[in-house]
Amino acid sequence: VPSKLEKKSSFLDYREVDWFSLASILFLLMFAPLIVYYFIMSCDQYQCSLIDPVIDLLTEKKHLSDIWNKTPTLTYRAAGIYTLWVAFQVFLYVFIPDFCHKFIPGYVGGVQEGAVTPVGVVNKYEINGLQAWIITHVLWFANAYYFHWFSPTIIFDNWIPLLWCANILGYAVSTFAMIKSYFFPTNAKDCKFTGNFFYDYMMGIEFNPRIGKWFDFKLFFNGRPGIVAWTLINLSYAAKQQELYGEVTNSMILVNVLQGIYVLDFFWNEAWYLKTIDICHDHFGWYLGWGDCVWLPYLYTLQGLYLVYHPVQLCAANAIGILILGMIGYYIFRTTNHQKDLFRRTNGNCKIWGKKPEYIECSYMSVDGTKYYSKLLTSGFWGWARHFNYTGDLMGSLAYCLACGFEHILPYFYIFYMTILLTHRCIRDEHRCFSKYGKDWKRYTAAVPYRLLPGVF
Ligand code: NDP
Repeated sequence: VPSKLEKKSSFLDYREVDWFSLASILFLLMFAPLIVYYFIMSCDQYQCSLIDPVIDLLTEKKHLSDIWNKTPTLTYRAAGIYTLWVAFQVFLYVFIPDFCHKFIPGYVGGVQEGAVTPVGVVNKYEINGLQAWIITHVLWFANAYYFHWFSPTIIFDNWIPLLWCANILGYAVSTFAMIKSYFFPTNAKDCKFTGNFFYDYMMGIEFNPRIGKWFDFKLFFNGRPGIVAWTLINLSYAAKQQELYGEVTNSMILVNVLQGIYVLDFFWNEAWYLKTIDICHDHFGWYLGWGDCVWLPYLYTLQGLYLVYHPVQLCAANAIGILILGMIGYYIFRTTNHQKDLFRRTNGNCKIWGKKPEYIECSYMSVDGTKYYSKLLTSGFWGWARHFNYTGDLMGSLAYCLACGFEHILPYFYIFYMTILLTHRCIRDEHRCFSKYGKDWKRYTAAVPYRLLPGVF
């Protein structure tokens, strides 16, 4: 049974289309696919230099058409690989109920409930992402070391043709979600129409589009093919290094290990993820659909791609320093998220860092005028800053980038992007919380004055 607290918190989601949002949306719709293409092309044709293509174009050494003509096109092979890949992930998601929770102690899987939607629906989800990840990776290693059906470099070798396939799926699924919301929505009352076509296409109309009882678009597209693919892509890059240079560098191993921990953490906590902003507040449109199919697998894996072209071998001190930074970042990220989760689940009847938690009592009104009560934690990492979980995430992100050395800017895209994403998310969330809690939120921000970095921001 949903708590009153959960019920109210989702009621406060809202949409406004101001000129800035609209301008950003138009910019992203037009340029995000080009940005992805530019990064991948610059590795393919310019050894990952972001500047050289611009210099070539400005000095007329090359024309756009030269770059475009050198770009690999969509191939039947890539289309076949991609179709098989997505079909396999759909199969694992829909047809193999979770068995991991039956034998892995502490893992929460199987059928779980999500948060309450704005109209009071509680969706059930089959949480089997960890299982899908394990099966996929066992098969990957079985192929690499035993069956030899395909080369482990297959992803790298088809990276640009696969980009076209990912784009086709990303646009197809976003367009389908839009059409679906008009003609056969899963829950008509949870649809949000702003009347602005571009905004609706980008930010989504339906809250939780589904096909049948279990195929949930948000959970599927975010987790798989996006995040299951993440570690496979990195493994393919490592295999390519091995093929090209006869060894895998320690920086490549670091990137594989640190990002692997992040991915495994995601699947281990997939049930918790149902309560995060992506699932609780965002509707399903191009932002999530195309973003999960293209942006995430292509841009979150830039470090590994870069290391194929520039095999960086770190000295032991640097490698250890980066590993420590990554692990501390991960520890902060996980502990902060866990503290809030524990505090909310037990309604404050728990211990944070061995003590009874401190918190601020707050209240809010639902759209139907009912008053509800909630608590905002002010101890543990939540007493240090209002979004220290993001800070941990950023430290981890920085570690991946540092593993690539300082020769090029391209691998640092991730930390720039994450800083913008999480700062924007922080501001967006605080705006929502302020509308929800009003003066109680002000008391909270007075008690915990910083957002990400104590004493700085
Ligand atoms: P949070 O987990 O920080 O959730 C924010 C919500 O928590 C608020 O809306 C509010 O909801 C509640 N809350 C805020 N302050 C408190 C408090 N002091 N005590 C109790 N509850 C509080 O945000 P996200 O869902 O965005 O992030 C989850 C994780 O996912 C983060 O660690 C983030 O780094 C990561 N992430 C990673 C991304 C990636 O691309 N790699 C992208 C996005 C997120 P309520 O209305 O219930 O009060």
